[in-house]
Amino acid sequence: MNPASYIGRFAPSPTGPLHLGSLVAAVASWLDARAAGGQWRVRMEDLDRPRCESGAADIILHQLEAYSLHWDGDVLQQSQRDDAYATALDVLKSRDAVFPCACTRSQLAAAPHNAEGEILYPGTCREGLPAGTTGRAWRCRVPDVSIHFNDRIHGELQQNLACEVGDFVVKRADGLFAYQLAVVVDDAFQNITDIVRGADLLWNTPRQIHLQTLLDLPTPRYAHVPLITNTAGQKLSKQTLAPALPAHARGAVMAQALALLGQTPPVELSGADPAELLAWASANWQIENVPLRPSIANAVP
Ligand code: GLU
Repeated sequence: MNPASYIGRFAPSPTGPLHLGSLVAAVASWLDARAAGGQWRVRMEDLDRPRCESGAADIILHQLEAYSLHWDGDVLQQSQRDDAYATALDVLKSRDAVFPCACTRSQLAAAPHNAEGEILYPGTCREGLPAGTTGRAWRCRVPDVSIHFNDRIHGELQQNLACEVGDFVVKRADGLFAYQLAVVVDDAFQNITDIVRGADLLWNTPRQIHLQTLLDLPTPRYAHVPLITNTAGQKLSKQTLAPALPAHARGAVMAQALALLGQTPPVELSGADPAELLAWASANWQIENVPLRPSIANAVP
C-alpha cells in the first residue's frame, strides 16, 4: 500500500496513565498502520479540561515509547484547536444544522435513554428556544434515516440517529466543544484514513459520519477492537481503578495485549521485548482474528 494512502491514529484522553485496555487499542491501531506501511499519529484529546489530569499526557507519551509504539510527526493537542472547532461550528450554523439548547441536565434526566445509557434528546429546543430561556449548548439536528457503515471487525452496521441518539451536543453548556465535533474536525485535519479504536466508541461512529457529511469531510475506514474488562465484567478505565501499565515485564504485557487481539506470536518469542513482539505482529497482523466480544484481562504481570 502507498504510505500516503494509510494514516492511522491513537487519540488518548489524558485523564490518567494508559492501562491494559488503552494499550490494546494503541497496539491494534499501530499494527494496522505498520502492517499497511502507513503512518501512525498520536493526538492528545485534552478537550475536556476538567477531566484531564496534570502530567498525564507526558506519562502517556513515555508509556508509548517504553512499549516501542513510536509515532510519526508531532502530537496534536485538542486544547490548542478551539479556533478550528469554532470555524466548523460556524459552518454548521450557516447550514442550519445546529440549534441552541436551553435544557439543563436535570430537565433532561427524565428523558428516555438509549441502549448505551445516553439521554435520547426529546427535541425540546429543536424548533426554537422556549420563551424566557437562553441557549446554553449547541445541538446538531439529526435526520430520521438510517446511517449505514462498514466496520472492518463488526461488518455492516446501521443506526437511525433520530430513534437511537436524538439531536446531540456539539458545544457544551460549559463552553467546551464536544468530543463528536472535535474528533471529526481533527481526523480530517490530520488526513486520517483509518480509525482503529475501542468498541465503546462503535455507536459514536454514525454521529461522526453525520458530521462529516454536513462539513463535507471524508469518512475514514473504521475498525472497533474489543473492550478489555476486569473479572467483574467492567471496562478497564480510571473509574474502575484499572492499574497503570507496569514499568517492568513489558514484554509479558505486550504478549498479553497481542493475545487479547487474537494474534499468536510463535513460542520462540516467549520472553521477547515489546519491540521484537511488535516487529513480528506487524509482519503477521490478521485483523480477521481480532475477537468481536469483550475479553477479560488476566492480572497484569
Ligand atoms: N479520546 C477517546 C478516548 O480516549 C478516543 C477517541 C477516538 O479514538 O475517537 O476514549
